[in-house]
Amino acid sequence: RPIDAKPELTIRLCGPRGFCAGVDRAIQIVVLALKAYGAPVYVRHEIVHNRYVVEGLEAKGAIFVEELNEIPAEHRQQPVVFSAHGVPKSVPEDAQSRNLFYLDATCPLVSKVHKQAMRHQRLGRHVILIGHAGHPEVIGTMGQLPEGTVSLVETIADADVYVPIDPDNLGYVTQTTLSVDDTAGVIARLQERFPNLTAPSADSICYATTNRQEAVKQAADGCDLFITVGAPNSSNSKRLVEVALRAGAKRSMLVQRASELNWDEIGTIRTLGISAGASAPEVIVDEIIEAFRARFDAKVELAITTEETENFLVNRELREVPLTQE
Ligand code: SF4
Repeated sequence: RPIDAKPELTIRLCGPRGFCAGVDRAIQIVVLALKAYGAPVYVRHEIVHNRYVVEGLEAKGAIFVEELNEIPAEHRQQPVVFSAHGVPKSVPEDAQSRNLFYLDATCPLVSKVHKQAMRHQRLGRHVILIGHAGHPEVIGTMGQLPEGTVSLVETIADADVYVPIDPDNLGYVTQTTLSVDDTAGVIARLQERFPNLTAPSADSICYATTNRQEAVKQAADGCDLFITVGAPNSSNSKRLVEVALRAGAKRSMLVQRASELNWDEIGTIRTLGISAGASAPEVIVDEIIEAFRARFDAKVELAITTEETENFLVNRELREVPLTQE
């Protein structure tokens, strides 16, 4: 090739990637609430774990708070939206006691896990929640149940030392965005120790998490570098980084924006894998591909393992609001 020609690069672009139905719905709820009720619309916690999305909604008039007491008295008639990760039962109760109008954007698949945890408890089982301490979804799921009726297990090491009150009356659920393989290991260890452990009636890890991990597994082997577009506080995105490495990518990194790419560190590569977490917008994937195109003679190959058709309806109050109205 001519001396000044760009080096060749094959980009394996994973699919499915990026927004899932739960994230899409949560963003729509905020956008529709702004149209229906006017600004400001309060949102408790980042609606989904992505700064770009949050800043886009702030520009439209959303105000993000961590707790309901941050909503000023003069705005109490404006809606407050609960994030896709779900909230403890105490949050809607608190909203009611403050006379706030709330719209719950909890992903229906997270609500399903809440119901399964409550079902275990109703049937007299102590609940084991497999998940990451401190993640808002874990806080929300634990907060569906009375204190002392749910225990958090994060790792196989935790499963080894967990001491239940009654080993024959246990049921488990998991966070929706865990590593499919790691979770299988934790469950297997718990089942070994507690053969009467009851599984939830359906897997708690959601379709979007499973599909994104599967696509990365198929594409990562032989990649000199694998990039997952996503935020450092996005659980499902961080899992994709790990999955890529285990599946054979030489290096694997999480990137929020193209401006973060360190070209010296990236160096000489011939094959690049790209995926995006469930809360990462496609526009950032495009931005990153363009940044590589500027430096490489890049050809994009699609690495698609399945098609997703899931679509979740927004809250009843918002179904009649036309999306196009300005
Ligand atoms: Fe729902 Fe799964 Fe998306 Fe979380 S990652 S919002 S559980 S579909």
